[in-house]
Amino acid sequence: MDKDGRLKLAVQKSGRLTDPSLDLLARCGVKLSRGKDQLVGFGENMPLDVLFVRDDDIPDLVQEDVCDLGLVGLNVLEEKRLALAARGVRASFESLRLLDFGRCRLSIAVPEGTSWTGAASLAGKRIATTYPQLLARYLAERQVAAEIVTLSGAVEIAPRLGRADAICDLVSTGSTLDANHLEEVETVLESHAVLIRTPVALAAVKSDWVERLLLRIDGVQQVKESKYIMLHAPRAALEEIRRLLPGSESPTIIPLEGHPDKVAIHAVCRENVFWETLESLKRAGASALLVLPVEKMLS
Ligand code: ATP
Ligand code: ZN
Repeated sequence: MDKDGRLKLAVQKSGRLTDPSLDLLARCGVKLSRGKDQLVGFGENMPLDVLFVRDDDIPDLVQEDVCDLGLVGLNVLEEKRLALAARGVRASFESLRLLDFGRCRLSIAVPEGTSWTGAASLAGKRIATTYPQLLARYLAERQVAAEIVTLSGAVEIAPRLGRADAICDLVSTGSTLDANHLEEVETVLESHAVLIRTPVALAAVKSDWVERLLLRIDGVQQVKESKYIMLHAPRAALEEIRRLLPGSESPTIIPLEGHPDKVAIHAVCRENVFWETLESLKRAGASALLVLPVEKMLS
């Protein structure tokens, strides 16, 4: 649909995915200016525009090629995929990257004190959810016949209102369940945000930008946990110290002027560096230890 050569990316307008999505874009170097209506963000330094929409609309916008890319929860994506399949339509959005935000799980929960011996306990029960397709698949895979009560929200109060015996809803910390005296008994889907793209071939300029964006996203995701560590080590302890450096493949080893028995080691650790690690390194003979956050990384 778009002929202006600018990439269109759909992002949740206001909700749990909004801030982490915008944060990811900012870390990828995308500078956005919001239009007057606040519905579109214009990329000032790259040909990318962000459309702010309800998360539930994101798979359709990409499926229908209104947007080239979308940032959406796997839960919404899979529900949509199954809903399309039920109508005989093949979902055509492609997942490009799993992202490390929007973590939650779609779970079955029952009122506290309900006896639970596995999915079979749901037989003949009414289960309230906003994810009827994922729930139906879960029940079918376990050959359990239950009634699915599809709601558009406020699922967690359905048992109290007598509308359902159990629920199937998104959980992250479980505090909403606790507040409603519900107990999580089984996970239907582990979810996180995903970057999806249209299956339609993009013009070369656009697909180049998609590639560049992907490289930057990979870089951003890698640096989150990464640390740059610098230390001095006796040559004799080199092997042991290399072994102790967490998640670092090939540290740089530099001679130290005036200290033939010592070297400086610089390494990128792709895991967090804890105090315990530093203590072990010190015990192994390391000194002048310095741990720095990594801001950008491109392999
Ligand atoms: P919209 O108005 O865009 O439809 P919404 O109410 O459906 O908003 P949010 O509650 O903001 O959506 O959740 C958006 C997505 O964030 C969810 O689909 C899910 O992928 C993710 N998410 C992460 N943690 C949670 C959580 N604790 N509860 C619900 N969703 C979560
Ligand atoms: Zn929604």
